[in-house]
Amino acid sequence: MGDWGRAAYLEAQGIQDRRVLEAIARLDRAEFVPERVRGEAGVDAPLPIGYGQTISQPYVVALMTEALQLQGYERVLEIGTGSGYQTAVLSLLCREVFTVEIVPELARSARRLLRRLGLQNVYFRLGDGSLGWPEQAPFDCVLAAAAPSDVPLPLVAQLARGGRMVIPVGPMGGTQELLRIRRSRHPGELPLVERLLPVRFVPMTGQALSQE
Ligand code: SAH
Repeated sequence: MGDWGRAAYLEAQGIQDRRVLEAIARLDRAEFVPERVRGEAGVDAPLPIGYGQTISQPYVVALMTEALQLQGYERVLEIGTGSGYQTAVLSLLCREVFTVEIVPELARSARRLLRRLGLQNVYFRLGDGSLGWPEQAPFDCVLAAAAPSDVPLPLVAQLARGGRMVIPVGPMGGTQELLRIRRSRHPGELPLVERLLPVRFVPMTGQALSQE
């Protein structure tokens, strides 16, 4: 165990995108978790990473990444860097990742780890990701790893036409729904919302949420 290099498990769970399976196979999840839970890195479950936060379940990382339908040219906004594991997966599959984390210690250690792994197409920001990263918008894709009770409007506004957002939405502590939101290429057409999976993520904190 401890080896997500065997993508066969994720494939058996229904993940089909070869590029996603290969990216996950290239990374060692054990490097992204604290020493004390390293032995459990091979289990398909979230694990504590400190500060009340968790590293996401590998299946959910794979599913969310696949749902973005990355081709390789995209600029992706990620909310909730956490351990940096999902960030690293994205960085192998798109042009640039812009990742925002609200807990300084997590932002710092993820940045250090991704630098050490030689992943150079990742830009880090410490702050409230519910506001997005307006200076770098628009984004071809947005991925949120923390759950707001409603989709933050700034994130929709920063999504490019034809872009995809994957985000867990729902009440704190309860079951949330993982949504894929596609922004139409045609001005005036409403975004298309699909429900992908019931999930349980840590709550998204922040300003854009309390203003709604
Ligand atoms: N994909 C990450 C998930 C980490 S958990 C991983 O696998 O490690 C979700 C993260 O979102 C936490 O680190 C939490 O601190 C962060 N977060 C919560 N609300 C946020 C906000 N408003 N802006 C940025 N990050 C936020």
